[in-house]
Amino acid sequence: MTARSVRDGRRTASISRAWLAACALVVLGLVGGAAFDPRPERPVVRRAGYRVLEADFHMHTTYSDGTLSPLSLVRQAERRGLDAVSVTEHNTVLAGRLARAWSEATGGPIVIPGEEVTTGAYHLIAVGLERTVSPDQPIERVVADIHAQGGVAIGAHPVKRFQPGLAPVRAELDGVELMHPIAFMSRSPEWSWLDLLAYYEETTPRPAAIGSSDYHFASVLGLCRTLVFVREPASADAVVEAIRARRTVVLDRDGRLLGHPELVGALEREPYTPRTSDYAYRGENTADRVLRLLGLAGVAGVAFLRVRPRPRGEAEGDRDPVSPSPS
Ligand SMILES: [Zn+2]
Ligand SMILES: [Zn+2]
Repeated sequence: MTARSVRDGRRTASISRAWLAACALVVLGLVGGAAFDPRPERPVVRRAGYRVLEADFHMHTTYSDGTLSPLSLVRQAERRGLDAVSVTEHNTVLAGRLARAWSEATGGPIVIPGEEVTTGAYHLIAVGLERTVSPDQPIERVVADIHAQGGVAIGAHPVKRFQPGLAPVRAELDGVELMHPIAFMSRSPEWSWLDLLAYYEETTPRPAAIGSSDYHFASVLGLCRTLVFVREPASADAVVEAIRARRTVVLDRDGRLLGHPELVGALEREPYTPRTSDYAYRGENTADRVLRLLGLAGVAGVAFLRVRPRPRGEAEGDRDPVSPSPS
């Protein structure tokens, strides 16, 4: 039995009910798997009169070269104990807005729409946007657009090849990534973590210290993170304001605290360990596992049950009345 028939050139084929059921399983797996993911506690932490949030301001989704959808990214941020994230897709703010809507609807972490303004000469993280900032303009205009929207501009992985591109706006950067997964992974001289450190330390006026995971698929979301000292109540606006005021601290690869001197002092007096010790990637409760399995079964069904040829000799007039006409 067929649910719907389609014309494919001269050959008529049918979509089976089994294939539609497989699609439903995929949807069930995606929606249910996300809904039943475990949500670890994110305890309230305060230092120096501020709420301390763990944040990751640089991550990608399936809208470009990442492997998690904006929705899945929100759940993964929860699993990784992040209080605030900025979804920063290449040259579009759309994924960030989707992630924010999903997180607000499901009680997730603070999501701040952002963008990685990406050109051949530089990459620039914009946090706190509502509209996409075009990369097809001078970088001075890019930064002016970010600031006009109330956002902040962060130099992304400023290795030597990107430093000339960032040079015209170096003094206007609100933050600089000084921690990035290349600190742990890269052995390439072109992608040297020490260049990031030097760029941060030699930038005046001193920007906010930022640690970001630049999550795509190979690194771990939140592997590098920023401790942000926000005014309460904690909100997206409060996070952006804290970056603008340079109230951030980053734990670097060698265990040093870098950032706002008074806040570094507060953390040295009353130490705090960021929640980065858990590298688990999978959900850990039963409903989550079952729904993931159903979703995977659905993916297999979608792959193998897609098209069923119509029986030979079936008359043209036998087509299902809802079939679209060939055009
Ligand atoms: Zn980049
Ligand atoms: Zn990136």
